Amino acid sequence: MGLNKKTVDDINVKGKRVLCRCDFNVPLIDGKITDENRLVAALPTIKKLISDGGRVILCSHLGKPKGEPLPELSLAPVAKRLSELLGQEVKFAADPEVVGKNAKAAVEAMKDGDVILLENTRYRAEETKNGEAFSKDLASLCDVFVNDAFGTAHRAHCSNVGVTAYVDTSVVGYLMQKEIDFLGNAVENPVRPFVAILGGAKVSSKIPVIENLLDKVDTLIIGGGMAYTFMAAHGEPVGNSLLEEDYKEYALKMEEKAKAKGVDLLIPIDTVIGDDFSNDCNIRVVGRGEIPDGWEGLDIGPKSCELFTDAIKNAKTVVWNGPMGCFEMPNFAKGTEAICETLAEIDGTTIIGGGDSASAVNNLGYGNKMTHISTGGGASLEFLEGKELPGVAAANDK
Ligand code: AMP
Repeated sequence: MGLNKKTVDDINVKGKRVLCRCDFNVPLIDGKITDENRLVAALPTIKKLISDGGRVILCSHLGKPKGEPLPELSLAPVAKRLSELLGQEVKFAADPEVVGKNAKAAVEAMKDGDVILLENTRYRAEETKNGEAFSKDLASLCDVFVNDAFGTAHRAHCSNVGVTAYVDTSVVGYLMQKEIDFLGNAVENPVRPFVAILGGAKVSSKIPVIENLLDKVDTLIIGGGMAYTFMAAHGEPVGNSLLEEDYKEYALKMEEKAKAKGVDLLIPIDTVIGDDFSNDCNIRVVGRGEIPDGWEGLDIGPKSCELFTDAIKNAKTVVWNGPMGCFEMPNFAKGTEAICETLAEIDGTTIIGGGDSASAVNNLGYGNKMTHISTGGGASLEFLEGKELPGVAAANDK
């Protein structure tokens, strides 16, 4: 069953007070925004609400002030930059309690199409506990709630879940809708062949994803640090490579489950190894089962790149979570880059999980070649685990 949530296109906000939860959790250095991608990404939903004549009240968290009004985590710089990006004033309501006299007065004075921004929602200790008082405070400001913050969708907080209990209409914005379309619906009802690529450091952190995807995919590719636990499970030496001894048995079980379901489970057939965890260490390429003592696997080898890209090139849906190697070091980024290159060329839907996979794709210059790059690390992983995300569930169904 697909997820079919009401969006900003399904409601009439003319003259209404609209509280819009965004993800303005941007990096700040000395009060300066060093990466404004999240602000730019939020603009389509905000512009839609403005042009429909809504009275737009924006809110977001920033960093982890843990219930304290820390000045260095104020959203004031975001209000200033958003004003420039939108070409109209975004009035900042500087209340340490977020919903205080400034916010109330600003909302009271709003005309259709005006925009205000509330202070960092995590200045309130109840925010991350989904407390009732703050949820009610937020709801008291608005007639309609819009959630466009996917990065926190896997958490039940006041500003994305609690507030919806006290507002009649709760819908999702364009960014959330895109995440639901791809990570939710495309993965749930994929056009086949459907290939999943999993990598990153640990098997243990990806268990629910492996379990969920094995029920859905035609091919499952395992690379990155995770792969050594699979190799070790077959009694192959892995030297100093990442290894989770306790998960060897699990790895074998997953291989059996894949076989029973007719899923092709691929692991690397060669490995780029180093004699130290550094870009300038001595480097060799070895075949499967040939990692010597004192060396560690830091990337998939060229034959594995070929095996994996061959398995991907005719896919119609690909979902990718976790790099193939230590891509942060250029000498061990080739496997991850080979996957990027192939995904950029295929005639199918390419869905990239948030976090490290998203930064790998963006840093290696393939950002605009993918169908969808998720904006949420933890949230995208939980979506791929097949879990219901509280922030998505709280929006009204169509
Ligand atoms: P995760 O957060 O589990 O997706 O892990 C991402 C991290 O895994 C990245 O920082 C990679 O550098 C790291 N990684 C990928 N392959 C390896 C490897 N072979 N050995 C050590 N770390 C790895």
